[in-house]
Amino acid sequence: MIKLRVVNHQHVRKIIGENNLQRLGNKLDGDLILPDDPAYHQKRKVWNGMIDRYPAMIVSCKNNQDVIRAVNFARDQRLLVAIRGGGHNVAGLATCDDGMVIDLSPMHAVSVNPDKQMAYVEGGARWTDVDAATQVYGLATPGGVVSDTGVAGLTLGGGFGYLRNKYGLTCDNLIGADVVTADGQLIHTSESENQELLWGLRGGGGNFGVVTRFEFQLHPLGPEVYFCMVFHPGEETGKALQFFRDFTQQAPDEISVLASIGTVPEGSEDFPEELHGRPFIAFAALYAGDPVIGEAALAPLRNFDVPLADFSGRMAYQVAQTLFDKDYPAHSMRYYWKSLNLMDHSDRAMDAIASQAHHQVSQFTTTDIWHIGGAIKHISNDLSAFNGRHPDYLLNVEANWPDAEDDQENIQWTRNYLDDLQPYTDGGLYLNFAGLQEEGASMMQLSFGSSFDRLAALKQKYDPGNLFRLNQNIEPSGQ
Ligand SMILES: Cc1cc2nc3c(=O)[nH]c(=O)nc-3n(C[C@H](O)[C@H](O)[C@H](O)COP(=O)(O)OP(=O)(O)OC[C@H]3O[C@@H](n4cnc5c(N)ncnc54)[C@H](O)[C@@H]3O)c2cc1C
Repeated sequence: MIKLRVVNHQHVRKIIGENNLQRLGNKLDGDLILPDDPAYHQKRKVWNGMIDRYPAMIVSCKNNQDVIRAVNFARDQRLLVAIRGGGHNVAGLATCDDGMVIDLSPMHAVSVNPDKQMAYVEGGARWTDVDAATQVYGLATPGGVVSDTGVAGLTLGGGFGYLRNKYGLTCDNLIGADVVTADGQLIHTSESENQELLWGLRGGGGNFGVVTRFEFQLHPLGPEVYFCMVFHPGEETGKALQFFRDFTQQAPDEISVLASIGTVPEGSEDFPEELHGRPFIAFAALYAGDPVIGEAALAPLRNFDVPLADFSGRMAYQVAQTLFDKDYPAHSMRYYWKSLNLMDHSDRAMDAIASQAHHQVSQFTTTDIWHIGGAIKHISNDLSAFNGRHPDYLLNVEANWPDAEDDQENIQWTRNYLDDLQPYTDGGLYLNFAGLQEEGASMMQLSFGSSFDRLAALKQKYDPGNLFRLNQNIEPSGQ
């Protein structure tokens, strides 16, 4: 295990020495950003406004060689390392105090081979980059539901989106990758080369190195799809959840539904004033196929009750992928998102959720329930390290609020709510929605489940010193 230097970021420069830093800076094709650089304070920010960390340096990488130089430098200087893809990890794992941030955001190119139906995506790309490049050919791969989320973290942790029941998780569509490992080597993994590493990247997090390029399987989709986005009165949330469960249990694989319980925020421009402050339960669903069939197939979700508002319709897939974007602004809001595997979906469980969901501290908070079915269930843990296929639903509490003084109240409310729901879960959660990862190693063991020992052996092979530890961290099996 690498013993890290733990020093204040202002002193790191002194310890490492100006000459060493200058040599690193001179070698880079991208930029070395130090605390006195005018760009530093903008560059050190991540999506979650609650995270306020001061890295000793940010290496803004332009290419594979920059990533290799950064990894070698950090390892030799025994620095704490954070890897930044899209910067959307809720716990703020894309940054750190006093260490090095390897920032891949300048590496966001996407190219497509339409004949092979494959996309090649650099490690700092966001879903908007992927959708824009693939939709030119009427192709798509399952991504996330907010377009500026990073491809890297979402893929490495699993990846739930609107195509999940038809085409699987994002990580299920990962068929190859270029990775810079802790010893500074660039290696390729695919079904025929370093296969065990590919298995680990499919849900095992950023444990094994810096992924500089992802290769995804694409599928024909769009450009137009039918998308359901309907808001029903929250006074009937219990009944609506039972309906959602019954509907999803018999829905075809083309349909992936997300139920979201919340309150129409005061001042919202999307809803008429008389609805501000009204509790709602919304259904967001995409039909991955012919929009005409989709409209009929999704109609029951819209007709369940007289809607407060209905934004459903035929639209470009790229538009559907952005509908939630403005609800999750970067930097200005504070976020604590935590999930649980909902194993029991009886009426009692649904009522337990409904009785608490509308008592949120912040008007921006929602409870989201993702149906897990279809293709996700058909893939075994032998093919991917991801270990969240067994529940039929994933419940995620998204506490969102604007003011620092309300941090404690929002976080505590979320924890109490999830504690009360524990009887309906197996104790595991989706590691891309893991709060501040406060449980540490015990949660990794529980959530990785049967994949855990195999992941620890892989970690021992590729990162025995645990250089890459700011992630869903697996300790190397040799420790
Ligand atoms: C607004 C929003 C919407 C979301 N929507 C969804 C959704 O629809 N579905 C879903 O499943 N999840 C969703 N998530 C959760 C999301 O999957 C995680 O937050 C994920 O970590 C984001 O990836 P990122 O690259 O932006 O993260 P970052 O914060 O940049 O990175 C997170 C971690 O990933 C690792 N990492 C990042 N880049 C690399 C790389 N190139 N090589 C190796 N390791 C790397 C590092 O360990 C890092 O700590 C959402 C999150 C947010 C904030």
